[in-house]
Amino acid sequence: MTQQRVVEPVQEWLLAQGRCTGCGESLEEAEKQECQGFWMVICQCERVFIYDARTGVYRRRALRGVSSWRGAY
Ligand SMILES: [Zn+2]
Repeated sequence: MTQQRVVEPVQEWLLAQGRCTGCGESLEEAEKQECQGFWMVICQCERVFIYDARTGVYRRRALRGVSSWRGAY
C-alpha cells in the first residue's frame, strides 16, 4: 500500500475558484504585478500566488526564494 501525499483539497479548490487559500478572498481584485510572463498576485493577507495568464490558473508560489522574491518590488 502506498501512502500518497494529501493534496490539501480545500486549498486546491479555493485556488481553482480564483480565491486565496488563506483568507478566501477573490484574487481577481488582488494586487497583481507582472513578472517574467506570469503575474504575481498579492492578496490582502499578504499571501502571494502566481497567475498563469495562458492557462488561467492560479498557483501557490514556490517556497524557494521567498525573501529575494518579496523584496523585488
Ligand atoms: Zn488572502
